[in-house]
Amino acid sequence: MLDYVTDRVQDESRQGEVFAPGPETARSGKRFYIESYGCQMNFADSEIVASILGAEGYGATRNLDEADLVLINTCSIREKAEQTIRKRLGEFRRVKERNKGMLIGVLGCMAERLKSKFLEEEQLVDIVVGPDAYRSLPALVKEADSGQKAVNVLLSREETYGDIAPVRLDSNGITAFISIMRGCNNMCTFCVVPFTRGRERSRDSASILREARSLYQQGYREVTLLGQNVDSYYYVNEETDEIVTFAVLLEQVALIAPGLRVRFSTSHPKDITDEVLHVMARHENICKYIHLPVQSGSTRILQLMNRTYTREWYRSKVDRIREIIPGCGLSSDIIAGFCTETEEDHQETLEMMRYCGYDMSYMFFYSERPGTLAQRRYRDDVPEETKKRRLLEIVALQNELSLESNRKDIGKIFRVLIEGDSRRSDRDWMGRNSQNKVVVFPKEQLSLRPGDYVNVFIRDCTQATLLGEARA
Ligand code: SF4
Repeated sequence: MLDYVTDRVQDESRQGEVFAPGPETARSGKRFYIESYGCQMNFADSEIVASILGAEGYGATRNLDEADLVLINTCSIREKAEQTIRKRLGEFRRVKERNKGMLIGVLGCMAERLKSKFLEEEQLVDIVVGPDAYRSLPALVKEADSGQKAVNVLLSREETYGDIAPVRLDSNGITAFISIMRGCNNMCTFCVVPFTRGRERSRDSASILREARSLYQQGYREVTLLGQNVDSYYYVNEETDEIVTFAVLLEQVALIAPGLRVRFSTSHPKDITDEVLHVMARHENICKYIHLPVQSGSTRILQLMNRTYTREWYRSKVDRIREIIPGCGLSSDIIAGFCTETEEDHQETLEMMRYCGYDMSYMFFYSERPGTLAQRRYRDDVPEETKKRRLLEIVALQNELSLESNRKDIGKIFRVLIEGDSRRSDRDWMGRNSQNKVVVFPKEQLSLRPGDYVNVFIRDCTQATLLGEARA
């Protein structure tokens, strides 16, 4: 896999995931099918869409053939992501030939990017809905039902879907995502997000706390606060004038219950504050793990990317994390071969990786996206084979760093939240430690269940997993 290596942006194991409904029935007799691609924000949005359709009486199905409404929640981050969607639409065409009344809707970033052009390019599509327009989906379905093509790609400065309780897509019942904001104001030159998801806006903090409390009461034991740039979360309660920054919100969620773990994603190095780091250090249940995308180790490239920090600034931020939260897990996003990147710039990226000792990284080679600032301003001039070779070097180094980091954990004991059976064997449990590392250990005769916390002694590791045994 060369063009990207899984990520927060793209959790490979979840691409194409289909909504897994509970035993609910369709009040209207109609059923929807939803398939999701892309980042965690998209998966969280599919849960909102499921909730909106559920309120209209729609039941969910995993079976394409019995669906009245087929939705595909799309991603625009790389060309390959869009090709996957086109291919999938081709497969839907065959189903639609058997079921002529079926409606097909495209949601998400690709819908926002292409707008009504999508309807011209893909004749079988009936509905196109952008990420801020999901409330209008029932009306669009009615319009499409009457034979019209229906489009709503309006971006909003206010929409946060704060009042909609998502229907959970993930079925482990232990970990859940909570969207705390939408959009992004940063304008990194390589990124489509400011154009497909609009301006940044923060969700009402009271509704976030309500959602977290309700998840805990339902048995969930870990929530991840989700946003493109969580550190710039900022909400003012108009009634009380209370200002809620990300540090305040994080602490409020952590105080819900000591048994509820809190994670967050993603941080921007320019915005993460000492205050957030101190809140993390103060609360045992806030996980000691930060995803802090560096993107490049070269100041010159960082400037071209409009990341607004230098190499030195990023390193000092990592020093600060290590100082305030010793043992904090750290991961990154890295792009190989951005416009004009020289061999020297690339070496600086490798150096930065060594300096930070990332536990894990999401690594890509640069793929120019239509409409981005980089596409308008720069020439994508690094040859593909150079990009791929640099990416291979980055991946090889990250593999070494991950193994090295895991080896350092041998002999330690970690508190692990059990998420379920290990992928390889139902005789082993799989969970994560606070640093977000996957820990696998034998079930033995201990009466443990998913959602339980257990101390695990680490006796071995692979590059991706810590292997241990439970300690009473
Ligand atoms: S911070 Fe930059 S990379 Fe991240 S979503 Fe915003 S514009 Fe895109």
